[in-house]
Amino acid sequence: MEPTALAFKDNARKAIANPDLQDALGRIRSGWQVTRRRAALALDEFEALRDRGRDIKNHTLAHLDLYLEAFEAKVEENGGRVHWARDAAEARTVVRDICKEAGAKTVTKSKSMVTEEIALNPYLEANGLTPVETDLGEWILQVSGQAPSHLVGPVVHLTKPEIAGIMQKELGGPRLETAEEMVGAARRVLRQKYQDADVGITGANFLVAETGTAITVTNEGNAELTHGLPRVHVVIATIEKLVPRMLDAFTLLRLLARSATGQEFTSYTTLVSGPKGKGDLDGPEAFHVVLLDNGRTKMLGTAFQEMLRCIKCGACMNHCPVYLAAGGHSYGWVYPGPMGSVLTPQLLGIEKAHPLPNASTFCGRCEEVCPVRIPLPRLMRLWREEAFRRDLVPPTARRGLRLWGWLAARPALYRRAAGLASGALRLLGGRRGRLRRLPLAGGWTGSRDLPAPEGGTFMAAWKRQQGRRP
Ligand code: SF4
Repeated sequence: MEPTALAFKDNARKAIANPDLQDALGRIRSGWQVTRRRAALALDEFEALRDRGRDIKNHTLAHLDLYLEAFEAKVEENGGRVHWARDAAEARTVVRDICKEAGAKTVTKSKSMVTEEIALNPYLEANGLTPVETDLGEWILQVSGQAPSHLVGPVVHLTKPEIAGIMQKELGGPRLETAEEMVGAARRVLRQKYQDADVGITGANFLVAETGTAITVTNEGNAELTHGLPRVHVVIATIEKLVPRMLDAFTLLRLLARSATGQEFTSYTTLVSGPKGKGDLDGPEAFHVVLLDNGRTKMLGTAFQEMLRCIKCGACMNHCPVYLAAGGHSYGWVYPGPMGSVLTPQLLGIEKAHPLPNASTFCGRCEEVCPVRIPLPRLMRLWREEAFRRDLVPPTARRGLRLWGWLAARPALYRRAAGLASGALRLLGGRRGRLRRLPLAGGWTGSRDLPAPEGGTFMAAWKRQQGRRP
């Protein structure tokens, strides 16, 4: 996927003007936001679990080298093989060679953002292989030539009629109306692909050093058929997916589904530790794990190490007002929302992604809901500072920031200017109390009204309160 992160503003403008997309994104507010809140409230120890999750990931990252080697040793003891890949090119080559060695033609895949990151599908196709996405959402995207727009719900940007249109175009026949009809039709196509596949590729939600296990979670059971039916199973995962013990993985699993969809657990949680053993009725003959770095070790020991705690639950985007208005594709690469605004500049370079850390109101909701307490606003601010240092900020914004800095260093003047501005906005808001157009900053009111300030400034209110204190 060619990155278009630099065009975030244009992408977002188009997204905001797309009524179907706005309709589709609106479902997140009434859906995952509500179910996550309910699930968090229903579990007394949820906040303590978040602390535990953060600590497990911090501990693992502090000793990542040891746990990676322990994981490798365990996988090999179980009869599998570990391949180390420094970057996307190495990972793609490893997967291609495994497929060639297996004499594969068809390759089934379950949903994996890492394979999006390394652009695996086009590479496999260019090498004569046919990759087939088996997650329903991913399959819809594959047949319509689109990219996922969310970590958990890849087709969250599409409405049901749009999906029905895509399926009719792909499968022919009458238009399918209900979700059941659509799932049934996709199932009939995909069942045959599972039978045909020689290699199955999955990601991993967690890798367990103690047992050499790759854990996947799905609600469709497609990852299970992807690893269980073909002769060869390949797991591709980035190195920070590691946890020391099975107990740690289950602590994080308790956080993952609750934070993502509000479920206590996903419908399927599958643990794979190696190839089919003696006496096993099913399972692959060969088991490979590709451990991908692709820029992660560079993050260790820096302020951005905290980002490696991410368990890809998607909660930050489900609660981000910018994501909910602009949609995932506006972010212009694989990882959308607040987590993408921190991770993408790291993986692509800030020069190719500097608008993303600015795609935030800094309301702090992303950090409030992050199950592993990643300080996303603080990390975005660090990227903003870096972009400023490298002269990547447009001259008008630089001048504006300089002016603001000059004013902020003179508190008396700042208070007077803020008071004047607040009064002027109140006046412009009139009896409606809302501004349709903001002079000199039309972007703020381009697609919504701006509420006029209701009272005076915060400083004036604070001063009054201090005056009332005994
Ligand atoms: S940053 Fe936190 S909330 Fe966002 S996807 Fe990662 S773990 Fe989930």
